[in-house]
Amino acid sequence: MHIAVIGNGIVGTCCAAWLQREGYRVTFVDPLGPAEATSFGNAGSLSPSACLPVGMPGMWRKVPSWLLDPLGPLVIRWWYAPVVAPWIARFLRASDRAEVVRIATALRHLLAPIFDCYEPLLQRANAMGLIRRSGCLYVYSSREIARQWAWGMNLRRSLGVELRDIEEEELVALEPDLKGRFRFGLLAPENGSTLDPAALTRALYAQCERDGAQAVRARATGFRAAGGVVTGVTLDSGETLDCEGVVLAGGAWSARLANQLGPRIPLETQRGYHVTVESSNLGLTHTVMAVEHNLMVNPMRMGLRLAGTVEFAGLDAPPDMRRAKALLARGQELFPHLDASRVSEWMGHRPCLPDSLPVIGRAPRADNAWFAFGHGHVGMCGAASTGREIANLVAGRAPEIDLAPFAPTRWS
Ligand SMILES: Cc1cc2nc3c(=O)[nH]c(=O)nc-3n(C[C@H](O)[C@H](O)[C@H](O)COP(=O)(O)OP(=O)(O)OC[C@H]3O[C@@H](n4cnc5c(N)ncnc54)[C@H](O)[C@@H]3O)c2cc1C
Repeated sequence: MHIAVIGNGIVGTCCAAWLQREGYRVTFVDPLGPAEATSFGNAGSLSPSACLPVGMPGMWRKVPSWLLDPLGPLVIRWWYAPVVAPWIARFLRASDRAEVVRIATALRHLLAPIFDCYEPLLQRANAMGLIRRSGCLYVYSSREIARQWAWGMNLRRSLGVELRDIEEEELVALEPDLKGRFRFGLLAPENGSTLDPAALTRALYAQCERDGAQAVRARATGFRAAGGVVTGVTLDSGETLDCEGVVLAGGAWSARLANQLGPRIPLETQRGYHVTVESSNLGLTHTVMAVEHNLMVNPMRMGLRLAGTVEFAGLDAPPDMRRAKALLARGQELFPHLDASRVSEWMGHRPCLPDSLPVIGRAPRADNAWFAFGHGHVGMCGAASTGREIANLVAGRAPEIDLAPFAPTRWS
């Protein structure tokens, strides 16, 4: 059976790799090369602990002060506010305690097998060296401040996430660069990260090609269908790619195509930024999440990557690189000896649903089309387990986790 996979970011690539393990023939459809969109520049964390949704109880109280700071952790460009308002209303509804527990439970099921689902793919691609399982440190300026996040951390623990309290002395012993600013931490020892998210995606993609995958460098514009079955993908080149099944993994750009195969899905882009510091002069060995500062810091092979912030401004507005510079300024404040003489900046589009859960499942109006998009802040984390589940669905097998919370029909 020939499956067209729309999108060659980390999610489409993992879907393709898992489908090939089942013996399916795969053709990628993407105008870009592998990992040239959001999967290029993310923070690279591979965290089974990252099961909390973005919208947490009480968050709405912080939003007004965030919005007053144009370079703060959350910004909505004024002209985009009316467009995104209904999405934000849904997002806030999903941040109620009971909803958060439901969402975190579903995400934990998707993320707990991160390494089990990546490892067979990475081993085949001879790319195990691109991941590291050294744990993640959530760090705080004091234990008292950490208590503000205790409800979420306890929820993680109740779902089986191991989190170990780390007092200042041990924190500094683990990571001398944290000395001074951070006095308390939580170590998530089961977490890991990639040394280079783009290289990881490309290594898996190259293995897909070696295993016979073809690539069509074009944008998918729609589907040719007959009797509830997709028979081809129409392309902006004017041609149609014949196929016997299709997986839509177009990241933040998936909505237009998804809406042709089912009810409207409220997909929004949360634009995020990174700055990568070459020769940073820091010796971090863990992924570090500076919780109060909404800043993730990850030592990678090309340098130290600082990433974060959310900007609502749609898919087409140019990046506002002042936000990347603000990340760097925050990094310099937290790590005064950070050498920032050589840096690169980047913006990417996190594909986000209001409930922070991706869409994984069969398209409502086609028997042989499957959706795999909307992984928001955890697309690197959730890509391989999504691929495994998509392969199960395509093969007609029961999924290994409950996919009901991820259903494409959940807003209809
Ligand atoms: C600053 C930042 C930090 C992040 N940090 C982390 C992190 O530490 N850990 C983590 O797990 N996640 C992180 N993320 C999120 C993660 O990067 C994304 O969830 C993930 O990359 C999404 O992958 P994707 O394959 O769905 O989308 P993408 O990588 O964006 O790929 C989508 C592909 O689909 C193609 N496409 C779209 N429309 C069409 C069409 N019509 N026809 C053909 N092709 C099409 C695009 O060209 C693109 O190549 C971060 C994101 C940002 C922005």
